Amino acid sequence: MTRKYNFSSGPAALPEPVLRRAQAALWDLDGSGIGVLEHSHRGKAFRAVIERTTAAIREVAGIGDDFVVLYITAGATHHFTMVPHNFLGEGDTADVCHSGLWTTKAMAEIRRFGKAHVACTSEPAFDATPGPPAYSASPRYVHYTSNETVYGTQWATPPANPPAPLVCDASSDIFSRPLPLANHGLIFAGAQKNLGPSGITLVIASKAFLATRKPGLPPLADYMTYVDEGSMYNTPNTFGIYMIGEVVAWIREQGGLAAMGERNARKAAAVYQFLDQSRVWRGHARTDSRSNMNITFRGATPELEAKLVARAEERGLTGLPGHRSVGGLRASIYNAFPEEGVHRLVELLDELEREHR
Ligand code: PMP
Repeated sequence: MTRKYNFSSGPAALPEPVLRRAQAALWDLDGSGIGVLEHSHRGKAFRAVIERTTAAIREVAGIGDDFVVLYITAGATHHFTMVPHNFLGEGDTADVCHSGLWTTKAMAEIRRFGKAHVACTSEPAFDATPGPPAYSASPRYVHYTSNETVYGTQWATPPANPPAPLVCDASSDIFSRPLPLANHGLIFAGAQKNLGPSGITLVIASKAFLATRKPGLPPLADYMTYVDEGSMYNTPNTFGIYMIGEVVAWIREQGGLAAMGERNARKAAAVYQFLDQSRVWRGHARTDSRSNMNITFRGATPELEAKLVARAEERGLTGLPGHRSVGGLRASIYNAFPEEGVHRLVELLDELEREHR
């Protein structure tokens, strides 16, 4: 069986060596005679998995003792609710740098608990990261999405001079480049793009920020439960944690986050350079805000876009239609997406452009 070039926005392509190791671990984890799905989360073998996973994350991302690393079952959407539930009292404000669909969803949840102040916005086109922010007087935190998966924009650097800790939804660019921890109170990332399977979220949170959460929350809604219980208050997603560990070990083998960042920039530049000189294809995001993870673009006509999707499928290139809310085209090229697949896409775009003239 030949594998396709999978441009899906997530769940998305994972590194092939990791998938092969996981195949073997389903049968027998680390020579234990029991598969990874079958091990007790309280046993020695799984304890070794979670410990090495956290150690690899800390090493690769340069995370010190002032931050905790947590694994929380459920996706990033869960944290749209969990963050304001933990940190916003009635009358409190969260500032939001509004960059698209994902901050829209986060704001709806913030408003259940307190007030949302839009500090900056790039609506309605969402073709850039917004800025510079006009913060409110005393927000509890400042929420932003480091990479807007739907619109294809990515912050080059986090929002500047925040008056309160930054809360970052890093679901679609976690570990795709060095992780900026300065000024951050909490970073959450659903795993299914750069880290592993869906249904599990990696949380990196500052101890000082967590200490300011509201008391009396239900246990699974309280970030401190995950800290106090080592992410094992209830049975965690053991397979998800195993996969995250393998993916992060693979990132380390590739040279770490700086090397990933260079490779991702090179992959994305190959497509953007083509789009910039094309007469029939055009990128959505403004040059200074372009995402290296999700390249959003349009064809001169809907027919041309449909032709691309159809011919791509014939060639084993799949997952190119844009998000259902915006249409157009989107090539998601996370860490594990092979460089060769990017060149195959550019060749196909060029071929269709020549036919279109
Ligand atoms: N935030 C961002 C930036 C995303 O890209 C996604 C998923 N595409 C989510 C949040 C939601 O993740 P989940 O479906 O795992 O809850």
